[in-house]
Amino acid sequence: MKQNLVCFLCPNSCELTVEETESGLAVRGNRCPRGEAFAKQELLDPQRTLTSSVRIHGAEFPLLSVRSDRPVKKRELLPLMQQLRSVECTAPIKQGDIILSGVGETAVNIIATRTMAAKVRGR
Ligand code: SF4
Repeated sequence: MKQNLVCFLCPNSCELTVEETESGLAVRGNRCPRGEAFAKQELLDPQRTLTSSVRIHGAEFPLLSVRSDRPVKKRELLPLMQQLRSVECTAPIKQGDIILSGVGETAVNIIATRTMAAKVRGR
């Protein structure tokens, strides 16, 4: 098995080739060791940081942007996104506040990525 990947850990965007050998996965094309670890992770257990938004009440805007505090397994992204569709919170919310805790197989926290003040009455 031979697979081509692009490492997205830094702006160099190294084009990686991963090949299965008798001694394990061999990675080529990486300019630093992080690329090798990235390629192996990507093939064996791909993970991503989840980014989305949830409904918020009493704020200037109707949606609050959120993200997972750690990467989650790629296959968990869709179920977690569906779970977030029913989540609602109320202003004020501070950046970094936990909106949902310990969700999914990876037990990540979903945190606010921005501060949302309570809406001033009459505005
Ligand atoms: S392999 Fe290293 S240098 Fe290349 S894109 Fe990945 S992190 Fe950047």
